[in-house]
Amino acid sequence: MDCIFCQIIKGEVPADIIYRDRQFVVFKDIKPKARLHFLIVSRCHIVSVNDLKSKDALLVGKMILLAQKIARDQGVAGGYQLHFNVGRGAGQLVEHLHLHLMAA
Ligand code: 5GP
Ligand code: ZN
Repeated sequence: MDCIFCQIIKGEVPADIIYRDRQFVVFKDIKPKARLHFLIVSRCHIVSVNDLKSKDALLVGKMILLAQKIARDQGVAGGYQLHFNVGRGAGQLVEHLHLHLMAA
């Protein structure tokens, strides 16, 4: 499958990975739009928020809790943004579920 995030997860394409576990990989955005800009990426290939099913509720909850941990670890718990682009119309370029974490 021609998915850049799946390729990063498999180690086929390099990325600045700061965290990984059984369900998620977190790496620096290649074109940061803030001083800190990370992408929290599910290991499973889900295209977007529009494709989530009720069985994915725990996954999404864990994704947000992981964002909280990354923000704390990076020292920005006092102020950060979490952002999903959903669909081409909102500027979603990579069709693999990811949560942007940004902080000034
Ligand atoms: P989207 O617009 O789909 O919500 O965000 C995709 C993000 O992935 C963009 O901010 C873009 O800079 C980032 N990105 C795209 N390709 C790569 C890549 O190969 N490596 C990394 N680290 N980030 C990427
Ligand atoms: Zn993928």
